[in-house]
Amino acid sequence: MAAPNIEAIVGLAKRRGFVFPSSEVYGGLGSSWDYGPLGVELCNNVKRAWWRAMVYNRDDIEGLDSSIILNRLVWKHSGHEDTFSDPLVDCRDCKTRLRADKLESPAGQPGAPESEVAELIRAKRIKCPNCGSTDLTEPRPFNLMFRTTLGAASEADDPAALAYLRPETAQGIFINYLNVQQSMRRKLPFGVAQIGKSFRNEVTPGNFIFRTREFEQMEMEYFVRPGEDEQSHQEWIDFFVAWYGSLGLSPANLRLYEQPREELAHYAKRTVDILYRFFPEREDEAKQWDELMGIANRTDFDLRAHSKNPADAEGKRFNPDSTEDLSYFDEAAKERFYPYVIEPAAGVNRSVLAFLMDAYTERTTEKGETRVVLKLHPELAPIKAAVLPLAKNKPEIVGMAKAIKRSLQPVLRAVYDDTGGIGKLYARQDEVGTPFCVTVDHQSLEDEAVTVRDRDTWGQERVKVSDLHEHLRGRLGLGNQC
Ligand code: ATP
Repeated sequence: MAAPNIEAIVGLAKRRGFVFPSSEVYGGLGSSWDYGPLGVELCNNVKRAWWRAMVYNRDDIEGLDSSIILNRLVWKHSGHEDTFSDPLVDCRDCKTRLRADKLESPAGQPGAPESEVAELIRAKRIKCPNCGSTDLTEPRPFNLMFRTTLGAASEADDPAALAYLRPETAQGIFINYLNVQQSMRRKLPFGVAQIGKSFRNEVTPGNFIFRTREFEQMEMEYFVRPGEDEQSHQEWIDFFVAWYGSLGLSPANLRLYEQPREELAHYAKRTVDILYRFFPEREDEAKQWDELMGIANRTDFDLRAHSKNPADAEGKRFNPDSTEDLSYFDEAAKERFYPYVIEPAAGVNRSVLAFLMDAYTERTTEKGETRVVLKLHPELAPIKAAVLPLAKNKPEIVGMAKAIKRSLQPVLRAVYDDTGGIGKLYARQDEVGTPFCVTVDHQSLEDEAVTVRDRDTWGQERVKVSDLHEHLRGRLGLGNQC
């Protein structure tokens, strides 16, 4: 089972401290969300799992943390200033702003090429999804990069001070490619991984944390010899399908999408998206899926674009602004070339949404009450163990429970809770995905043992306090990674 729709997660997320609407005391801010005490833990666990899979568990990837604001020339030469835009359409009747590439054609299919959409709009054959009007403007490009100005004295429209908030983390990797390669003495193939915030002034943000203007990305650029790119691309596609599966996403809710030629970004040779079933409630099965992450073969486009070399036939440099040549010299083959780049790019927030939706289950108690149980993978669960006193008015029991919580904390994320009866406390922990509850009762004072309750089976086991760390770590299946 998974969540029946995103709405089921929105309510749970707010009620249980995962995600709150941002700026709520001032009426909110469209499509902005703040991550609460459990949300920040979940995000951190997703990022940690990704970082471990990329940087620690492999021998061929280094980490990086580049600036959010880069020299404007980066975005000029990457092509973002000219092409990082969505085609924007306005409804003249209800004033809704729409993305032309998401409008449904008369046949009910979104994603028609822009020229075709323009033609259909002119012929009044496309309807505004909000009010049904056919009075739509023609598509025009809208650049998604947020602009800002640098320096205290700069005027808002001073072109010399213009800068952008990065719309992807990837460019920070390309401009540091030589720094990483030389400082870490890397030979091809090798990768550079980065996690960080990106910003896009999306025309139609929405669907909770699925599409927002400020979000976090986990991107890795894997540099390979041209000719080895296609095989490497396929390996990374397989790798990430397996990675999401290993963290609990059901294979039935994952699917691959091969981007057709006309959809490919200007730099891409091939792009495959991993889709998740974010919209299971939609009747049309094809519309239940949307992108979770993209895996692109970016060729040598970016390294060439940021290089002072090569020159054209007349000796004129293609990039007159760059001071470096980002080509690679293969010592063994005595050859110089620009590496190809395979880019697995995932969103932290979209991944969190997918993990929450997939973990969502409902279970009926013996009394006929429906309970939500969030079956998050233990590695992702915000809390690994909750220590609960059976009687909160008994100082010895409370003292023992608090001491157990403190002793667990250096080993794994644990909390103490005595704000309700035991049934309520169990239900609360089930709803936030805590794999184990540890209950201290009257008997514990005598036999130095506690009850360990399993979130998924509701089964209970008596465990000696002296064995508790080992017992929980073993059952959580975690090494030193809590
Ligand atoms: P989309 O087609 O949904 O706009 P994209 O293809 O432009 O996404 P990429 O540039 O490939 O996205 O970015 C890589 C990943 O970053 C996406 O797969 C997604 O997980 C995440 N991402 C991109 N834009 C957003 C956004 N506005 N809000 C949340 N996550 C995003």
